[in-house]
Amino acid sequence: MSALGNLGWEAYPAEGWEEISVMDERNTPMRTYQVCNVMEASQNNWLRTRHIARDGAQRVYIEIKFTLRDCNSLPGVPGTCKETFNMFYYESNNANLWFIKESQYIKIDTIAADESFTQVDVGDRVMKLNTEVRDISNLSKKGFYLAFQDLGACIALVSVRVFYKKCPLTVLNLAQFPDTVTGGDSALVEVRGLCVNASEEFEAPRMYCSADGGWLVPIGRCVCKPGYEEHKDFCQPCRPGSYKASATDAYCTKCPPHSSSHLERASECVCEKGFHRAETDPRSMACTRPPSAPENTISTVNETCVTLEWSPPRDTGGRGDITYSLRCRKCSGDDMKCAPCGSGVHFVPRQFGLSVALVMVTDLQPHSNYSFTIESLNGVSDLSPTPRGAVIVNVTTSQTGRNTLSVVLKERRSKDSITLAWQGPDRPNGAIVEYEVIYYEKNQREQNYTVLKTRSNVMTVDGLKPGTTYVFRVRARTEGGYGNYGGEIELETSHEGNMLAIDPNQSTILAVSIAGGIILLIFLVACFVVSGRHCGYIKAKQDPDEEKMHFHPGSKTYIHPHTYEDPNQAVRDFAKEIDASSIRIERVIGAGEFGEVCSGRLRLQGKREIYVAIKSLKAGYSDKQRRDFLSEASIMGQFDHPNIIRLEGVVTRCKPVMIITEFMENGSLDTFLKKHDGQFTVIQLVGMLRGIASGMKYLSDMSYVHRDLAARNILVNSNLVCKVSDFGLSRVLEDDPEAAYTTRGGKIPIRWTSPEAIAYRKFTSASDVWSYGIVMWEVVSYGERPYWEMSNQDVIKAIDEGYRLPAPMDCPVVLHQLMLDCWEKGRSERPKFGQIVTTLDKLIRNPARLRETVSESSRPGSALEDPTTPEFSVSTVEEWLEAIKMDQYKENFSSAGYVTLDSVLYITISELVKMDVTLAGHQKKILSSVQSLQTQGTHVQV
Ligand code: AMP
Repeated sequence: MSALGNLGWEAYPAEGWEEISVMDERNTPMRTYQVCNVMEASQNNWLRTRHIARDGAQRVYIEIKFTLRDCNSLPGVPGTCKETFNMFYYESNNANLWFIKESQYIKIDTIAADESFTQVDVGDRVMKLNTEVRDISNLSKKGFYLAFQDLGACIALVSVRVFYKKCPLTVLNLAQFPDTVTGGDSALVEVRGLCVNASEEFEAPRMYCSADGGWLVPIGRCVCKPGYEEHKDFCQPCRPGSYKASATDAYCTKCPPHSSSHLERASECVCEKGFHRAETDPRSMACTRPPSAPENTISTVNETCVTLEWSPPRDTGGRGDITYSLRCRKCSGDDMKCAPCGSGVHFVPRQFGLSVALVMVTDLQPHSNYSFTIESLNGVSDLSPTPRGAVIVNVTTSQTGRNTLSVVLKERRSKDSITLAWQGPDRPNGAIVEYEVIYYEKNQREQNYTVLKTRSNVMTVDGLKPGTTYVFRVRARTEGGYGNYGGEIELETSHEGNMLAIDPNQSTILAVSIAGGIILLIFLVACFVVSGRHCGYIKAKQDPDEEKMHFHPGSKTYIHPHTYEDPNQAVRDFAKEIDASSIRIERVIGAGEFGEVCSGRLRLQGKREIYVAIKSLKAGYSDKQRRDFLSEASIMGQFDHPNIIRLEGVVTRCKPVMIITEFMENGSLDTFLKKHDGQFTVIQLVGMLRGIASGMKYLSDMSYVHRDLAARNILVNSNLVCKVSDFGLSRVLEDDPEAAYTTRGGKIPIRWTSPEAIAYRKFTSASDVWSYGIVMWEVVSYGERPYWEMSNQDVIKAIDEGYRLPAPMDCPVVLHQLMLDCWEKGRSERPKFGQIVTTLDKLIRNPARLRETVSESSRPGSALEDPTTPEFSVSTVEEWLEAIKMDQYKENFSSAGYVTLDSVLYITISELVKMDVTLAGHQKKILSSVQSLQTQGTHVQV
């Protein structure tokens, strides 16, 4: 707000805030509010703005610029001089309130001068201009009033800027997201996108507007309608000569052969004259026409059976779906008049829709003339008005017909005889003279067979051996001679004393060809040609995972993604690509290095829906960031263990790129333990530790060194199962807020890292064991920070001098001993993860050993005392304040209720401000001493 005239803010009492005109650095006059009643005690000066409309924003930011005099710079001021002031607000629908009670205001904050000063001239003095920004959330009324309370400081309020944040109008994935005002608190506002011109929803487009005005987690997208293609942020029409048939096709493509489009925005191309498109043809396929006629026909007559063969048409019409159909006409009389053959004639394999250029026509009349028309057809024949390509073949059958008889076994078998019965042929080509039956003992054909003849169609063969299998064959003789033997029938006589009745339902029917043995053969050939097209051996595609397996179960070794020339190959080898449409994002649950972490559901085909965590790579990433992001998946994908976070797959083919893992309901272990301080039994804690050790054993067996094992990198599911996570290549370098630069340049999470890894980057499974010891300590102390607030440098020094973290409160001796073993200086002396698992298993089986706890609580820890630092032992707040030379605040502490040393242990800066400890130097001194009180008990370093 800047004004030259009166701002009209309410100031009371009258001798408090004053509206004063000053010149700014460019010599422009500006209005400020000032107050500087530092010489008088008991100040309570209020300044209230006019009503500020909130314009629909739930959260607004207030940026104030002000100068504040340092009390020390004002000669002779009393101790009541302040270096802070308070800021308040009051929400109201009424824009004309003339009075608001002090108690009605809500405090925003106490404002103190910060350390980032810029210099500014105020009047004739050089002052430091401070800028502070605060925000107020969840506003719901029409507007609010701001108020500034001075309790005796020397302040000039130079500017107050009130603003709110918006996520700006944007177009993403062809969906337009409007200018959106951010939500209150840190809530995300879900915004539905509207498809841009000529586009339609493929999956409902949504995005989240974050509290600080950025768009997050784009989900869904729009696609250009048929006839349009995507160009930058809109859809442009396909040009003449091109088309786009489906919204899901990416781009317009040239019209296929024999088709064209003359106008813009074609969704399909029109076929040239004489060409057609079948209903099932894809729009991308060339237009086609019917085939020409079959060629090179050959007919082979065998008595009353004709085999027709031909070559495929020369012009297939541009298609591969050629079939053939036959029409049969019988021609007789002198004028050779032809009429349809009727249903008595049979075609093998069929008459219509033949896919092979061969057919056998049976059951023709002997000595007759036939005319066969063979047509070639394809998928567009029905669409074409032109006559079909066809060829006519005339044949004459010969005199002899052919007969088929069936043998039906209906009779009985005994120990020495078998009765056979058969049926005569349906259409004998002459009278049956006799039947001939031959039989022989199975496998004895050459040596001995018997021929029997009969005029009847039943025969009993006697004199057979009991329990023996015989082979029978039958043929018939007509006037034209013998036909061929039919198929073999095997029958076994019953064993001694056994009479077997033949079940008529199980009777065997055998086709016996008398004079046309060749037929069966031709049919078999035809079948082979037909089925050969479908049944040929297709070599099963090799599973690419199998091809690339570099290890075998039992001897798996981790493969570093850097060993791949193409890191994308590592992702393909180790992570399954998931279709983005099978993922439903539901909530943002955390922030990772590369973007948000959300929870949601994954439904893969044929599997039940599962909850998953979804890490997405934020927009605008570099190639390297993408590689680093996905490296986590190519590492995680190599592991398969119940205590290692399981990778479900990745989405790399569309944006945002995502990593999908199993969902761990209880989040990271450190936060989880802090939330449930003291709520678990020792056995439960040991169970968690056992899980982590087992996961780490698996990793070390695979020669994988984690390097950043810490409770914050363990995830916990709803069954309290702990799983090791955080495998990205860059994680230790960039991701971990605990990682600090060492003198050798690398970034290392000092408190969790073994001395040899800190000193000369010797990271091994043994250094992971050290970190595991720290995790044990974190678990038993319910998420306490290792080495509390000691500085990293002090931690390194203390460890080097042989100090180790003391046992947390109520820690079983055996567990602390195991921690100490993990923290052996010599890395070969530390236990292996396998041994740790065994030890923990024994404790779980025999919990009695967990009962003995370290008697003296070491929280805060005494094992870390530094004997070289001078110190006093103090027991009261007064003694402590005296020791740190802050005794001028004795009264402030006691009147604020801080009477015991314990009570000051967790004091905060705002509490110090409340009790009028406003000097920054004094606050710092008191707070750092509080920290040492926390870590070193009542021994105070000075
Ligand atoms: P990260 O980038 O892996 O450190 O993940 C950031 C945060 O997201 C973690 O601290 C967890 O709170 C949360 N998170 C990550 N992965 C999962 C998961 N699989 N299940 C539940 N929460 C997770």
